[in-house]
Amino acid sequence: MSMNLILMGLPGAGKGTQAESIIKNYGIPHISTGDIFRAAIKNQTEMGLKAKQYIDKGNLVPDDVTCGIVKDRLSKDDTKEGYMLDGFPRTIDQANALQEICKELGRPLDAVINIDVDPKVLVDRLSGRFICKDCGATYHKLYKMPKVENTCDICGGHEFYQRSDDKPETVKNRLDVNIKMNTPLVDFYKERNLLFTVDGSQDIDDVTKDIDKILKDFK
Ligand SMILES: [Zn+2]
Repeated sequence: MSMNLILMGLPGAGKGTQAESIIKNYGIPHISTGDIFRAAIKNQTEMGLKAKQYIDKGNLVPDDVTCGIVKDRLSKDDTKEGYMLDGFPRTIDQANALQEICKELGRPLDAVINIDVDPKVLVDRLSGRFICKDCGATYHKLYKMPKVENTCDICGGHEFYQRSDDKPETVKNRLDVNIKMNTPLVDFYKERNLLFTVDGSQDIDDVTKDIDKILKDFK
């Protein structure tokens, strides 16, 4: 048996937390594109050097280089029992390339886990942060309100502000970009009967339990 996975989820869906649980519970390597890019560049692999040429010029790394780095990583021995891809593929072209890579390496995908949360809930989660103007203490509308309304726990200040990154409009735009990229990928894997959707609006532990129910069949 193998456990060859992709973990998907929009910003704020809790992907990072669930990725940690999966690694801890199943011992498969977490392959995040950011990390493997940095490693390939640091180790000056052929693909790493190619990627560096684009990054140094501020250009996007083309798909063949990105896929080359993923292929190099998936070829390593530690992925024999399974792996969890995170942040890849980002496009249908990359998804098609990944199908080929997996076939060549004899490590086909078993499941794509999509942590699904209503974008409206994500906006609340991601735009909830606000900051005390006087002392910089941070609060969150959902997770950490001041003990006394409109009064900073630390300094007693009454004025608060939001960083532009945390404002609902900015968050909505960021989510829209991600939804546009994610939706075709979700459909791609649904058509191939690889998609497992988990309700990410539940408590973290319940999301973990739902993921475990799916993964126990691949152990
Ligand atoms: Zn304060």
